[in-house]
Amino acid sequence: LGGSISRALAQMSNATVIDEKVLSDCLNEISRALLQSDVQFKMVRDMQSNIKRIVNLETLAAGTNKRRIIQQAVFTELCNMLDPGKPSFTPKKGKPCVVMFVGLQGSGKTTTCTKYAYYHQRKGFKPALVCADTFRAGAFDQLKQNATKAKIPFYGSYMESDPVKIAVEGVERFKKENCDLIIVDTSGRHKQEAALFEEMRQVSEATKPDLVIFVMDSSIGQAAFDQAQAFKQSVSVGAVIVTKMDGHAKGGGALSAVAATKSPVIFIGTGEHINEFEVFDVKPFVSRLLGMGDWSGFMDKIHEVVPTDQQPELLQKLSEGTFTLRLMYEQFQNILKMGPIGQVFSMLPGFSSELMPKGHEKESQAKIKRYMTMMDSMTDGELDSTNPKLMTESRILRIARGSGRPVRDVVDMLEEYKRLAKIWSKMKGLKIPKKGEMSAL
Ligand code: GDP
Ligand code: MG
Repeated sequence: LGGSISRALAQMSNATVIDEKVLSDCLNEISRALLQSDVQFKMVRDMQSNIKRIVNLETLAAGTNKRRIIQQAVFTELCNMLDPGKPSFTPKKGKPCVVMFVGLQGSGKTTTCTKYAYYHQRKGFKPALVCADTFRAGAFDQLKQNATKAKIPFYGSYMESDPVKIAVEGVERFKKENCDLIIVDTSGRHKQEAALFEEMRQVSEATKPDLVIFVMDSSIGQAAFDQAQAFKQSVSVGAVIVTKMDGHAKGGGALSAVAATKSPVIFIGTGEHINEFEVFDVKPFVSRLLGMGDWSGFMDKIHEVVPTDQQPELLQKLSEGTFTLRLMYEQFQNILKMGPIGQVFSMLPGFSSELMPKGHEKESQAKIKRYMTMMDSMTDGELDSTNPKLMTESRILRIARGSGRPVRDVVDMLEEYKRLAKIWSKMKGLKIPKKGEMSAL
């Protein structure tokens, strides 16, 4: 008897040792991926020790897929690290509000200001742009060009060299004109320097912004924490926008920026164009940090919710990557029916956050129905076309007339289509895991 007990004990401790090794091997591997994604060294180390505390070795011993348990714990931990615990200030329509953008030169402030203004304009706000960058030659011209293209009123000066004066004048003027979202673009200088932070402090003190947004280039790597902290120390940063997420950088610096500013990431920039701007969605972002791609979770869901007989058709469409208006129409039908494919479609990264934000399901459904009414006035050729140039002005007018909707709505619907087509196209050639062959999460 004594022999078998000691044998059993030996086996047990053996099992624990094995699980400890699995845990640390797995954590080391994940940590390497995070460091490659520019997550700060110290944060990676903290994450490691937190996970070691959280993951119960006994659960691990009992679990069949140990790596999955560990990965899930890391995933949750990273999502928590990106959540500062309080939402950022959000502008309200019809109520004047000032939003100031800060960040180093080249981070993408001026581009992002316009994207932010345009995004809100499409939601019914009355935005305006103020150029308080008197440091960089051509700063006003750049803002003017962007603003003109998007038909957004702007204010600035070629002569005045005092950024505080321009900022105050601009804000006052647009308040008088009943703009509800007054955006102040600022200078960034070449590097972190005392004069820049003093200037930011003065502009902020003079314009009393409701929100200060720190703009961060996703490729700044390990410098993110110090940079964000330096801005936070001079102005009260309340939100973060990460730009250039279309590049190679995975944006791990965002974790540092959130920690340093105690503010959430609200949007990401995904290109130079005014439309290339997305509401921040934590899960796909974390998947990307971990090197899992945006799609792994999504692909698993397909197997979970789509009936087996409907899977091949959907997978075929996904892997072709071509997204026609007719396909959009069919997916809208699915969503309204809340059928399984509709559920999958609404899980597409970047889809639900934008078209169907949580808590606004009624409005979203109404919007989808509106879009479908307009598509009912389209010809078969238009619905099946993959040529974006096909939708000429006269066709848009005809559709507006046919569906009894304003031209603006048709344009909106086509913009939405373009956005979704871009998301859809990312799936082209994607390897779709067979059932049971789970991807990372
Ligand atoms: P600022 O100095 O902070 O005002 O930065 P700018 O707005 O002038 O942007 C600097 C450069 O980055 C410009 O060439 C922009 O077109 C580019 N840029 C800004 N945001 C993005 C983005 O999300 N993706 C890409 N690819 N380029 C961007
Ligand atoms: Mg600029």
